[in-house]
Amino acid sequence: MSPIVGYDLFLNNFTKCIEEYYIIFKKYYFSQRSPVIFPLMLIYGSNSSRLLTEPLPDTPCHACGTADSLRLSVSGRYAHIYWIPLFPAGKLGGAECHNCGTVLLHKQLPPALKEPFMALKQQATAPIWHYAGLLLIALLALSSLLTSGLNGKQDLAYLEKPHTGDLYHVRTQEGNFSLLKVVAVDGNSVQLQANTYQTSSSSEVADLNKPENYDHDAFDLTRYDLQIMKQKEQIVDVERPEND
Ligand SMILES: [Zn+2]
Repeated sequence: MSPIVGYDLFLNNFTKCIEEYYIIFKKYYFSQRSPVIFPLMLIYGSNSSRLLTEPLPDTPCHACGTADSLRLSVSGRYAHIYWIPLFPAGKLGGAECHNCGTVLLHKQLPPALKEPFMALKQQATAPIWHYAGLLLIALLALSSLLTSGLNGKQDLAYLEKPHTGDLYHVRTQEGNFSLLKVVAVDGNSVQLQANTYQTSSSSEVADLNKPENYDHDAFDLTRYDLQIMKQKEQIVDVERPEND
């Protein structure tokens, strides 16, 4: 298999993957009723940019015979999504005549030009911006990891020192989301009211926070119980009213 055919296969598989992810992503976005308007048309594919060019002063053009008009060039191909380069996808190139415009792809090059072309191809490296999409994804992943790490720490600090009015987002036994509200704190004991409603979407659980939605009978838990619930991911988020 030639490297070019290999890249094409790879790009084909890559675009299929992107299409499938896009469908899942769209479903997710619409199920969350996100205010973000997700673009409905997906634009992806591959593009290339010139990496290196080298004149061939000793070789006249085979088509027009002009001396000093041939140039070897190598281009870097990259996969893109919405024109943002994702990652490099191989190198292409050949020779072109500045006088008559004849282009010879690397497979059509006469044997004498193959070696200098291969040397140039070896020399050419993809610029960092060909990796822009991958770098962006890595950056986003890192920042969301940091944010969730910081949130987790903040939640633990809130659970160690509960305040009246704290709101705990909890996962129910049915796998849904609901709320617990701190109504009193007395030493180690924390009095809570349970919300009588549940929702399947973690982003909508805050909408359940209305006084009439809470059970009138409060129950007690210890701070230690709360820590355990956090560890077991039964408490998924802690909200503290801003004036506290
Ligand atoms: Zn020519």
